[in-house]
Amino acid sequence: MSTFDGLLYDGRHAAFRRVVVEVEDARVAIVEDDARAVLAQSDISVDAPVPGVVRRLTLPGGATIETADHAAVEASWPTKGTIARAAFWLESRWSMAVAAVLITASLVWLIVAVVLPLAAEPVARNFSPRFEEAIGAQTLKTIDTRFARPSLLPTERRKAIEEKFAAFVEREPGISGARLEFRRMPFPNAFALPGGTIVLTDKMVTLLDDDDALMAVLAHELGHLQAKHGMRLVLQSSGVAVLVTALAGDAAGMTILAAAMPAALLNARYSREFELEADRYAYGHLARHGSSPQALADVLRRFAEDKRTADVNDPLMRYLNSHPDLEERIRLAEEAR
Ligand SMILES: [Zn+2]
Repeated sequence: MSTFDGLLYDGRHAAFRRVVVEVEDARVAIVEDDARAVLAQSDISVDAPVPGVVRRLTLPGGATIETADHAAVEASWPTKGTIARAAFWLESRWSMAVAAVLITASLVWLIVAVVLPLAAEPVARNFSPRFEEAIGAQTLKTIDTRFARPSLLPTERRKAIEEKFAAFVEREPGISGARLEFRRMPFPNAFALPGGTIVLTDKMVTLLDDDDALMAVLAHELGHLQAKHGMRLVLQSSGVAVLVTALAGDAAGMTILAAAMPAALLNARYSREFELEADRYAYGHLARHGSSPQALADVLRRFAEDKRTADVNDPLMRYLNSHPDLEERIRLAEEAR
């Protein structure tokens, strides 16, 4: 029997409980004082190991257990087996492909056009929070050295927005750890980094000059965050990284993803599917906080009017071009009221 200590999170609250995990004969017992729950080992999924990062076990229903006992997790859920199996899968497909150039070409097409976009979502959803936070921190560092300056908004204005935002995300499932960073960039922008940071530019704050409109924009960005769109965008556009990360989930994968992230986020043109998904999330979020989808419709309408009068070199165009299909989004938001 293998035994290790862990912290149990119920998946809804930040608080944890100390538990002991016992693994024996494909069954896992979770023990807290006198209480004991037994599960099938196959019902528990385990994230890929990242050096220096705690391992995370996901239970059916979304609760998680975090533990620093790498050896015990490795003994019960060996990583090597997964990598070897995946490598074997690739190799067996590969040898088939070299049989004919034609097959190789169509296989490559299939992987790039079909498999990678499909793989991006499950891969992005299975990163551990700490892995995402590390990528987000690295991305912000790059943005700070290359694209952004410190915010010049008055401290009281920033504090007021931060307080409003903190109340806006409090007790929201799936977006724990969301926080704001203010930066000065040449255009109005708001974008979400993996791990929970939303960057808001001074120009977006002054352009909107209205807290309800700002919270509607942030609700939409929380939708991108919650659905892991930033990570999926990068995974979809960098095929090799998908494989490296899916197979290993280690520091090499992180370096590749963090390097590709700033350009992907700053030049993002989210797909219609991603935009509508982020909006649908925003409707619910706004409704839970005493507002309504109408707030989103209103701010989108303002953007649409600005877009009609702005010329192509207007800095606002950059944000609007990265968030397409305004008219459709306004219509859907108003229907969702
Ligand atoms: Zn968007």
